[in-house]
Formats: sequence, structure tokens, C-alpha cells
Amino acid sequence: MGRPKPQVIQQQHRDAASKLDVIVIGAGLGGLGAAISIALTGHKVHIVEAASEIGEIGAGIQVLPNSSRVLFSWGMEEQLARHATRPKQCNYLHWKGGNISHMDFHEYAEELGTPFWDFHRANLHLELLNRAKELGATMETNSKVAGIEYEYPEEGRTVAVAVLENGGRRTADLIVGADGINSRCREILLGRPDPPVLTGDLAYRLLLNTEDMMKDPELRTFIENPQVNYWMGPDAHAVNYVLRGGKLFNMVLLVPDDMPAGANTVAGNVEEMCALYKDWDPRIPKLLALCDSVFKWRLCIRPNLNPTWSHESGAFTILGDAAHATLPYLASGAGMSLEDGHVLGLCLGRLAGKSDDEKKKALKVYERCRRERTEKIVARGNLQQHLYHVHDGAEQEERDRLLKEFSVFNGRGKPASEEELQEKGLEDTSDPFPWRWHGVGKWLLPYQCEPDVEQRWAEVESEAASVESRRRASTEVRAQL
Ligand SMILES: Cc1cc2nc3c(=O)[nH]c(=O)nc-3n(C[C@H](O)[C@H](O)[C@H](O)COP(=O)(O)OP(=O)(O)OC[C@H]3O[C@@H](n4cnc5c(N)ncnc54)[C@H](O)[C@@H]3O)c2cc1C
Repeated sequence: MGRPKPQVIQQQHRDAASKLDVIVIGAGLGGLGAAISIALTGHKVHIVEAASEIGEIGAGIQVLPNSSRVLFSWGMEEQLARHATRPKQCNYLHWKGGNISHMDFHEYAEELGTPFWDFHRANLHLELLNRAKELGATMETNSKVAGIEYEYPEEGRTVAVAVLENGGRRTADLIVGADGINSRCREILLGRPDPPVLTGDLAYRLLLNTEDMMKDPELRTFIENPQVNYWMGPDAHAVNYVLRGGKLFNMVLLVPDDMPAGANTVAGNVEEMCALYKDWDPRIPKLLALCDSVFKWRLCIRPNLNPTWSHESGAFTILGDAAHATLPYLASGAGMSLEDGHVLGLCLGRLAGKSDDEKKKALKVYERCRRERTEKIVARGNLQQHLYHVHDGAEQEERDRLLKEFSVFNGRGKPASEEELQEKGLEDTSDPFPWRWHGVGKWLLPYQCEPDVEQRWAEVESEAASVESRRRASTEVRAQL
């Protein structure tokens, strides 16, 4: 018997003395998540978005149980379940086609209490937008933020002003920069240019209409039995899964970056893409032959936002890809953004006033909950890049050996004991299948924002209390001298 579902959070009411005006910059998955969580705690939220229309590119997104837990707690289970596919399992295959290992998603979901979900991004995005509006968040589009300024309406209270490219100014007690990987907010916070870091990989993203696939007995099984498949090959891998109850099939191809300097997204060439996979499992060229057009995305990361994620005034912070963009190889970038938003909301929910000290305390707890976890995700994403792309030979044989050895724990519903790992000569966290318990599954999937905030809030309060008591003691000593 696994964990129960999380409780749905009810919207709080808050009096004027502690009700913040919050501006969220960016209506991506992270920004909308933050808007929901902050609105749930009774603060006033306004979203400022650069684009003229709200929407996500036509592609799929995997949502892991730690992120579906967040969505459930925002009261979104029912609306989202209508759009979601619940794949039975995830398979790792050799690039030529042989099965190497698998993970049973339903087994893990049973234990964790929330599902692995696959969405068309547009569905997830629109439902988040609807929920944010339902909770009272407002939004303006065509409003690109160019700078942040600070004003001091009273002693001990700073407000931040988002300065728009069109000259407009929007003032708030707290501004949350959720402006994605090419973040202006990150550079404003750091006070210097800080471009994303290249990873050497790019992604082709395509959506196939499944009617054509259903005509081919070899391809039809992909639709009839929804699973997530990863083929791993030299310098490249391929991922696919079903969307919208079998109406669409999502494919992502990860290959070496050959894009011109400066470009982030360009139209891809279908023949070139097909040529890269011509010698792979014959089902892949067959699938790619069904594709008419494709875009390619350069994959970058955003490691190490130092020294801190928030401005010293307590009136400006950032989240999501702006803070910690990762390679998509753990399917966790958006998940981390949703967790960021949830944690930030929970911290702001504990405010008793609007002073700088109050806000700084909330932001300190927020960063303490988020920094280490997101840095570990970025690091493991980089490791997966290596593991997914090794060439056939000794290293690939060792990876596949480990994948198979760790498969003996499949079907248990929980991690193996230390003794058992030792007996088998296996090291915890060295399963190349990242989501299984002995990859990063043990700390990634069961995570819950609420107890983390609870614990770190108490930690920060007790640190502040001991600083205060040391300060008092030294004042007394000085007074006695
Ligand atoms: C190929 C690929 C596959 C992926 N697959 C997964 C997956 O399966 N699961 C998963 O969890 N994650 C996945 N991700 C990662 C995920 O897409 C991102 O981590 C997530 O979308 C980040 O959300 P965000 O809100 O931080 O940024 P974004 O979604 O980029 O949103 C930023 C928003 O800010 C707006 N904006 C930008 N600048 C300004 C400005 N100056 N002023 C006002 N508005 C501004 C933008 O218009 C945009 O709306 C994948 C990524 C890629 C590239």
C-alpha cells in the first residue's frame, strides 16, 4: 500500500497588512505555477508576459510523480487527467533495437501516490493558465521586462519596479522572474551578461499523426500500449511516447549541435534528420518517414546561480529555467519549475507582514529548499548525456550490465536495502536508469514541498534565534566592561 494522494490546498484569505502585491515575469509553466501557488496563499498576483499570445510549442512533456503531486495539491487532478496519458512503463533500448532494461511506471506511481503523466504541452499550459485566473491572478501580454528598479516607500520596506521595454512601469512588493532560459531577470540580478551554457546537443521535436502509424502493424503497438521508449546510441538518443489518448505521437531526437552561433531554434531539414538515424532500429526511420516538417532546439543549461537567487532587498527573486535550466534528460526541467513555484508560494504563505525582513526570511527558506535539489538535477542531466551517448564498446557494455543488474529490483515497489546492494556489488545512485530508486529516484520522486518548507523554516528561525541570543550576550558583556 503506497502513499495517499496529497491534500488539495484551499485558497487562504489574508488581511491587507500581510497581503503582498506580487508580479510574476513570464507566463511559462514555471511562471504560471508560481502564480497559482502564490494566489492560493492569498496574495495578489499579476503576470507580465512578453509574447503577444499565450501558448506552448506543439510538443510533449513528461510529468513525474513529484510534479504531478504539486499539480494535485493545486486542485488540478481532474482537469489534467482528461488530457494525460499514463504510460505503463519506460523502456531502454540499444540503438539497433534490442531491449536492455525497463522501469514500471505504474508500480512506482502506486508507491508514490501520484502518476507519471504525459501531456501535449498546450493542454498543460492552458490548464495552468485557467487555474491561475480562477484564483484571481491577472495577466498582461506584449509586455517585455527590460529592467528592475527599487523604491523605498517606508523605513524597512522595499518595493520593486518592473520597467517594460515600452516604457511602462509595474510596482510590486515582490517580483518573481520566471522568464526562461534566455532570462533577462537573471542578468539583472547578477548585474552582468550571463548567457546560457552550450551543451553540445540539440533536439529535433516532432509530433506524428497516429492514423498513419495505425496502418503499420509494427508501429501500431506504440499506440495501443502506451509506453515511453529511449533508444541509446553513439552521440545521440531518441525518445518517444503517446499523447492525447493515442491521437498524437511525440518524438524527440537528441543529436550533436550543428546550429549556427546565436540561433536557439531553427527550422530543421527532414532529410538531414532522417540521415542521422538511417542505421538505427528500423522502426525509427519508419517513424521519421511520417514526418513532414521539424524544428530543432539548441540545448543549453544554466548552472550555478551564485551567490544567491534573490536580491538583497527581498523584493526580487527568480525561478525555473532562469535559475537552473537543465538538459531535458531527466524530464525534470518543468517539474523543477513547478516545485520552485510551489515552495515559493508556501514560504510566502507564512508571512505575517510586508517588511523587508519578513520577505528576506521567506526567500532564504525558498532558496534553501531549492538550490541543492536543482543543482543535483542539472548535474545528473549532464551525466545522463554521457550515459545515453556512449559508443558501442566496453563502456556501453558496462552501462548495459548495470542497467540489467539493477533490474533485479524491479517489481518490489521500494528501494533495496544497503546490505542487498552490497551483496550484489552495486552502488546506490549508480543505476544508469535515472528514475529508478537507485538512480536518483529515491530523492527525486518522493519529494514533497510542504515538509521541506516546514523543516527549513524551523531551521532558519532557530539560526536567527541563536544569532540574536549571541548578539544579546555580547551586548551584555560589553555593558559589564
Ligand atoms: C526538448 C525538451 C524537452 C523537454 N522535456 C521536458 C519534460 O519532459 N519534462 C519536464 O519537466 N521538462 C522538460 N523540458 C524542460 C521544460 O520545458 C522547461 O524546464 C520549462 O518549460 C521551463 O519553464 P519556465 O517557465 O522556467 O520557462 P519558459 O517556459 O521558457 O517560460 C518563460 C516565459 O517568459 C517569457 N519571457 C521571456 N523573457 C521575458 C521578459 N523579458 N519579459 C516578460 N516575459 C518574458 C517567455 O515569453 C515565456 O512565456 C524539456 C525541454 C526541452 C528543450
